Formats: sequence, structure tokens, C-alpha cells
Amino acid sequence: MKSGRTPTVVLEVRTYGESDKIVTFYSKSKGRMSGIAKGAQRSLKRFVNKLELFSHLEILYTDSHSSSLARIDQAELINPFPVIRSNYDRFTAAALICELILHWTRENDPDERIFWLLIWALTSLEDLKQPATWVVILFNIKLLTLLGYKPALEGCSECGTPLAHQDGPYRFNPARNGLICRTCGKSANNLGQSPGFNFSISTARFLSKAQEMPLDKLARLRFSPTVVKEALLMLKNYGSSILQRDISSWNFLVK
Ligand SMILES: [Zn+2]
Repeated sequence: MKSGRTPTVVLEVRTYGESDKIVTFYSKSKGRMSGIAKGAQRSLKRFVNKLELFSHLEILYTDSHSSSLARIDQAELINPFPVIRSNYDRFTAAALICELILHWTRENDPDERIFWLLIWALTSLEDLKQPATWVVILFNIKLLTLLGYKPALEGCSECGTPLAHQDGPYRFNPARNGLICRTCGKSANNLGQSPGFNFSISTARFLSKAQEMPLDKLARLRFSPTVVKEALLMLKNYGSSILQRDISSWNFLVK
């Protein structure tokens, strides 16, 4: 059986039987992976206070021949993110980020950029420099870009006309993966289709810029209340439309 060592973040923890835990991680070298930690519910020194939601760990694991569950042999704590655990807004934002990773990624499909994006998001929530909603928006827009589902925000996704004030007001249409100009919105209305929800040019330009910025520059961005409101609504609906399911943690942020 093959053993390995990888940095990970804990996405989900379930108790299993009397004394074991089943843990799902996003790992740097294997992507999403699940493992069983035998005896983790007893106060075994090698696991105590480590296999907790959001923890950044380095794990030693052994792959199984017969199951997709690896055996977790050891865990070393790199960062337990104590501020996130003690702050409601930070906790709900981190829970949403982990749920998004769970549903948007596949097992054994590693992408180091996604791993570092996850670490960036948790570290940003922990250091309290930006509001939790800003971190969620930036994480989500970057994740969609890395996954190849970048929403089309540079122009109308129907007629291709670049963003311009005379074509506004725009709408965001999750089914079209992007913006719809006023003319195309009217045509959709005439056909009895939903043109989507209002989306301002300033939000589209702001998010387009964020899509292109490197992680270490994102803390410079300053959001307006309109950008926060429109971006959260767009990301929630766009994600559900592609995944064909609701992500329950969104309900704590967007009513
Ligand atoms: Zn159009």
C-alpha cells in the first residue's frame, strides 16, 4: 500500500463507530480526499485537537486497495485558525468556502492553485483585515476562474457587445453564464424567458479586475455595498445553476 505526506485543509469531519473519524480534506498533492482516522475520538495524542473543521494540517496517510478511504496515520497542525472558530461571520464564511470546495472539486484531481486559494481565503478570514463577505466573493470568483467557469463580465454574453453605459442597465443571467444587455434582455422578456437580475456596470468591472489580479494583491481592493450585494447574489445563483444543487451555507450570507 502506498503511503504519502501532504499539506491539507479539513473540509468535513464525521464520527464513525465508537472511536473513529472520517475526514474529508482538500490536499495539495491529491486534491479532495477522504480518510479514516482510527481511534481519533479517543484522546489519542497524534490526533487530539487536530482533525477539526478548517484546520491546516500536514498528514501522513496510507492509500487503501479496497476503498477510496485512505488511512490517516498522523496529523501535524500547521494552523488551527482560532479567530475563525470564535467569530460567527468568519465561521459562516469559512464554512461556505469549504462547502464550495467540497462540491466544485473531485477526488484525486489535484490543483495546487486551488489549494493555495483555499489557504489564502482562510488566512484572510483569520487576519481580520477584510470583511468576511469580501473574502468570500474574491475566493469564489477566483475559484470559478480556476475551474474554467469564469462568468462572462466583459460584455453581453448574448450579442457580444462590450460593456458600455448606453447598453445598460445590464442583467446577470445564470443560465447564459454572464451579462445580458438591455436589448437582449428585452428580447428574452418578449420570449417569456427570465433575463436574470440587475447587475451594475461597476460591479462587472470590479469583478473582472479581481478575476485577473494575483492573490497577494487582492487585499488592495475596496468593495462598495452595491458590489457586495450584487456579487453575492450573482455567485450564489450562478453556482447553483451550474452545480444543479443548492449550497446550504449560502443561506447564512444571502437571504
Ligand atoms: Zn446583448
